[in-house]
Amino acid sequence: MRFAGRCALVTGAAGGIGAAIVALLWAEGAAVAATDRDTRGITAEALLPGDLRDRAFCDALPGAAREALGTLDIVVNNAGAITRGPVTRTGDDDFALSMAVNVEAPFRICRAAIPLIAADGGGAIVNIASCWGLRPGPNHALYCATKAALASLTQCMGLDHAGEGARVNAVCPNEVNTPMLRSGFARRGLDPDTAVADLGRTVPLGRIAEPEDIAEVALFLASDAARYDTGALYEVTEGNRSD
Ligand code: NAD
Repeated sequence: MRFAGRCALVTGAAGGIGAAIVALLWAEGAAVAATDRDTRGITAEALLPGDLRDRAFCDALPGAAREALGTLDIVVNNAGAITRGPVTRTGDDDFALSMAVNVEAPFRICRAAIPLIAADGGGAIVNIASCWGLRPGPNHALYCATKAALASLTQCMGLDHAGEGARVNAVCPNEVNTPMLRSGFARRGLDPDTAVADLGRTVPLGRIAEPEDIAEVALFLASDAARYDTGALYEVTEGNRSD
């Protein structure tokens, strides 16, 4: 029960990695405020549905979580939007969506959360970035650029707010078996189960990550075991680093 007495806000809580983070936090004693566009079916102390493209919603979210739970100790900025294609096949709507969900929402949520976390005695923010934000893959220009921005924001906030008792770190996963990855396979006409199995055979550990593999690392960074970590980018890449 590493998180007994701790109160956590998790975005993208209905998605693959978000659901795993909520379940693990909950199992380890945290009180959780879960947010997503649709929160029906999520088990948590507080459900705060909304769209992260709504600036006012993001600004108010940490305060709403704290009001519902009592304190704010942990924030996990997990929600993400993926837009595919090179810049020349990327529309204005793709740009606005990627920036809003992957960069502006975490910025607004962190800006509102850090003073609350500090006032409640200190805690941790964990951002879910991507290894593609560190070493871009092909045909996902905006996704890679926005995840790079989130990684940089994490490093900056880790530096700037360490003295306030708010640690800020990021998890940078490679491929994870979630709806985000599977929808990409389906769009290319591939059977997601077969494509996930085939991809797994190409990586050193013999399988791609499941959501729980990423959630465990996020929980480590949220926990006191990571008390000396801030501004760090934790790659979870199944031994598949290409640099
Ligand atoms: P997912 O699609 O299963 O979950 C993402 C969640 O974010 C969804 O529940 C979705 O509703 C929510 N979301 C998206 N836009 C939103 C909006 N405007 N308002 C509110 N909620 C919104 O994907 P996932 O794989 O679980 O992704 C979680 C995080 O992990 C994302 O930030 C993603 O970029 C990152 N990531 C995923 C992979 C992967 O291979 N799956 C790899 C690296 C990083």
